[in-house]
Amino acid sequence: MRLDKYLCESTEFTRKTAKMAIAAGDVEIDGVVVTNPATKVTAESHVQFRGADLGVVGLRYIMLNKPIDTICSTVDSEDYQSVLSLLEIEKPERLHIAGRLDADTTGMVLITDDGKWSHRVTSPKKACGKTYLAELAEPMDEAAQAEAIELFEQGFMLKSEDKPTLPAQLKFIHPDYAEVTVMEGRYHQVKRMFAAIGNKVTYLHRAQIGELDLADLEPCEWRYLTQDEVDLF
Ligand code: URA
Repeated sequence: MRLDKYLCESTEFTRKTAKMAIAAGDVEIDGVVVTNPATKVTAESHVQFRGADLGVVGLRYIMLNKPIDTICSTVDSEDYQSVLSLLEIEKPERLHIAGRLDADTTGMVLITDDGKWSHRVTSPKKACGKTYLAELAEPMDEAAQAEAIELFEQGFMLKSEDKPTLPAQLKFIHPDYAEVTVMEGRYHQVKRMFAAIGNKVTYLHRAQIGELDLADLEPCEWRYLTQDEVDLF
C-alpha cells in the first residue's frame, strides 16, 4: 500500500497531514528517510515516524499452519484458543480468517485485514480450490472409489441444503486416505461429503489453497505472504 495511506491507517493522521509529515522528512522506511507519499509499504517494511515505530501495517496477509484444537474465531472460546492468539502481533482485532477450519482440522489458514482479498479466496464464484487430505474410517475398494470420484465430480445435494455441491476432485492415495479439492467452504463440507457416501473422516488437513501450499511450515508456525503470493488471489 502507499506510504501516505499506511500512515493514515496506523496513526491519527489524515491523508493531508500524512503527506505533510512525509514531505517534512519525518518518516523513515527501513532506516531511510522517504519523502514520496506514493512509496510502497509492504508487510516486511519497518516504518518509523520521528524515530518511533509504527508497528501496524495496514494490510497484512498471513499464512498459518493451524494445529489441532484451535478455533478459527477471532476470540478464544472456553475450550479452545483462537488461531489469532498464536500470532502474537499488534492489532489482532483488525484481522479476519479467510475460510475457517473446524477445531479438529489442521493445516492452512489465511488471515488478513483485506476484505476484498479474502473474498477472492473464499467466494465460490472465484473458483479458488481448497485441497484437503482426509483420513477415512472405512477403507474403500476400487469400485467404491470410482463411484465416489464420479459423484464428487458431478456434485450432489448435502442434507438441509438447497443447491448441489460444485464439482470437486477426489483422488485416493490409499483405500482409506484421499485428497479432495473443493471450490466452496460450506459448513463441515468435506466431512459431510464423505458422510453422504457412508464413510467418516477421522482426520482432516488443509494442504493447499489455490496455488499456495504450506511447504515447510510446521504446526503453529506462521509467516507473512510475499507480494507474489498475495497476487495469486
Ligand atoms: N470441511 C470440513 O468438514 N471441515 C473443515 O474444517 C474444512 C472443510
